[in-house]
Amino acid sequence: MRDCGGIGRRKSLPPRLHGRDSHMKRMTCVLAFGLSCTTAFAVSIVSVRDEIEIGRQAQAQVRAQVPEVNDSLVRGYVASIGRRLVASAGGPRYPYSFSIADYKEINAFALPGGPVWVHRGAIDISQNEAQLAGVLAHEIAHVAQRHAAEQLTKATIANGVLGFLDAVLGGGGGARTARVAAGLFANGLFLKYSRDDESEADRVGAEIMRRAGWDPQGLVAFLQILRAQQGRDPSSVEVFLSSHPSPAGRVERLQSVIGSARGRRDSDRFQEVQRRLDQLPPPHRMPRG
Ligand SMILES: [Zn+2]
Repeated sequence: MRDCGGIGRRKSLPPRLHGRDSHMKRMTCVLAFGLSCTTAFAVSIVSVRDEIEIGRQAQAQVRAQVPEVNDSLVRGYVASIGRRLVASAGGPRYPYSFSIADYKEINAFALPGGPVWVHRGAIDISQNEAQLAGVLAHEIAHVAQRHAAEQLTKATIANGVLGFLDAVLGGGGGARTARVAAGLFANGLFLKYSRDDESEADRVGAEIMRRAGWDPQGLVAFLQILRAQQGRDPSSVEVFLSSHPSPAGRVERLQSVIGSARGRRDSDRFQEVQRRLDQLPPPHRMPRG
């Protein structure tokens, strides 16, 4: 029941419930049944179009705050891996984009509707291409599974902000509301997903990797590196661990799903990109607080 409204992947819902014009029906349901139907309708309240608009505005806000790696070799490489993964991802056709935050700390995050960010620290710590692809695949899976829309909907309803909901649904204040929602994502307030969503992003991310031809063990290996890094330099993984469950449990769950699948692990380009990053000025540290 939890995410029964995912667009394009729930066979049980009749097509008429997927259109924008059905918003009023869905809102009526929410008004009539209150919290009792929030789980059943969690995802469907925020349309794909709304989600993309919120993500577009959040992306502009993140861009204004975060230093980016602008080196064309590094950017082109990360984007090419992202595009190949997206071609193997399900879900709505989001306008995915891939940006690199010039931060030393190891982290990655996705905004609603397509913008994916990976920190330079996460590329630095990766030992091969499959590990980096694993990080990106996990974030793409959050987008494809519409976790942000689900979270936004739950938070909106739980807080009883019906005016806000109305605006998200296309009422008079829609643009302003989209900006407010974008700000919540841009400032990391909505970037902590539930444990179930994280497990799903690991599972779906591994499947996306497999379909795209990479060894899904790359994601497992990246989590193991994080675990080791926790002991060596805890501050470098602090941000990641504040928004993700502990790597230990994730490794075990993932291993049981992946089985013996194998695929591409590395490329000369990955090693070239690592050398290029070494030549660039050192990354920034994330601002604290
Ligand atoms: Zn995640």
